[in-house]
Amino acid sequence: MKYYSTNGKAPYASLKEAVTRSLAPDGGLYVPEQIKNVPDSFTENIQDMTFQEIALEVAKTFFGDDIPETDLKGIVYDTLSFDCPIVKVSENIWSLELYHGPTLAFKDVGARFMARMLAYFTKQETGTINVLVATSGDTGSAVANGFLGIDGIHVYVLYPKDKVSKIQESQFTTLGNNITALEIDGTFDDCQALVKKAFSDTGLNATMRLTSANSINVARFLPQSFYYFYAYAQMKRLGMADNLVISVPSGNFGNITAGLYAWQMGLPIKRFIAANNANDIFYHYLRTGTYEPRQSIQTIANAMDVGNPSNFARILSLFHNSHENIIKAIDGNAYQDNSISQAISKCYKDSHYILDPHGACAWLALTDGLQNGEHGIFLETAHPAKFKDIVEDAIGTALTIPKRLEEFINGKKLSIPMTNRYEDFKKYLISQQNNAGRKE
Ligand SMILES: *Cc1c(COP(=O)(O)O)cnc(C)c1O
Repeated sequence: MKYYSTNGKAPYASLKEAVTRSLAPDGGLYVPEQIKNVPDSFTENIQDMTFQEIALEVAKTFFGDDIPETDLKGIVYDTLSFDCPIVKVSENIWSLELYHGPTLAFKDVGARFMARMLAYFTKQETGTINVLVATSGDTGSAVANGFLGIDGIHVYVLYPKDKVSKIQESQFTTLGNNITALEIDGTFDDCQALVKKAFSDTGLNATMRLTSANSINVARFLPQSFYYFYAYAQMKRLGMADNLVISVPSGNFGNITAGLYAWQMGLPIKRFIAANNANDIFYHYLRTGTYEPRQSIQTIANAMDVGNPSNFARILSLFHNSHENIIKAIDGNAYQDNSISQAISKCYKDSHYILDPHGACAWLALTDGLQNGEHGIFLETAHPAKFKDIVEDAIGTALTIPKRLEEFINGKKLSIPMTNRYEDFKKYLISQQNNAGRKE
């Protein structure tokens, strides 16, 4: 399968090229040339299959031309070492819990898959592949844990000193092994600038192999379609799979776009709801047909604080730029922080179900938008304990912290302090490369 760029000015790429480059040379996002249908027999018998079996079928339709089935099976089965269960919340409303992975957030699925696919494509190459990632919190933890212990790949996570929550910080600074956390004396923008500069530094790139684990990478984005099929399978087991509406808390719109891909492949979903926080650029687009990116606003659902969602380009390409077709498939809504807190409180009071601020947006949009005869699923993208203070305030009770999160919090911080000057960063990277060379 070939991949084309949403900007239309770059040559077609192979899967390997798309994965190792992340972004197309014209600045666009890679998109598969065709979206193949899954066989009818697959959706007919899906209720009898495991999550891993379902995911392998879906993976084969995307990646089957490029990766032999036995290798693909290894990547998929190894990625999905945790479940994504459907939990009933109230009449006609279910939660798809995507937070049972290592960092308790849905980004684990894509990050783990990408790590394994990148390792697969680069295993013939000599020397270490270095993944550079700048983070304001969640991406760093998903990527670091996704790549933890993967042979031949070293990850450098750059994060701004004192600007990341303690819980988030602990999830990528305590790992050791092939993960190095660099605590930058600066802002998130400084971290991003350092990474960008490193990628464009020809001298550095001649010395060491650099790549990114950006969320727009096809190997992070496409595997997110797996759990939409699995959600359908679970609803089918319950006899509730007709008239399905799926509500997705959206920031960069990768998650919902993967759902739209699943739908295009033949998954019987009636419609989608894109839930926004105060960053309502997409909601505005749905209502007006005009896309106006803005500076992002800080909210309590901070992983959705995106003012210019990069996957919007993929949605446009999927619907051939037709606003009319987009609004047929996707509905939307947007909520301020006070509505989000009230939703956490109300859902707990009425249904004894604990939402995190992101899932709360999706739950609200679903309860506001669900019509008679429809069955609704919202995506719960993070464990509520990751947002302990906000959630405890809203529900008025103390949360139990999952063991995995506690282990991170109690782990020893191993990060390396660094200035925000490029020369220091470069010198450090080269010294690491030399050390690694000597060991071999
Ligand atoms: C990243 C993230 C989102 C937004 O997902 P997109 O794919 O960027 O739309 C929602 N919730 C949580 C908890 C996240 O970490």
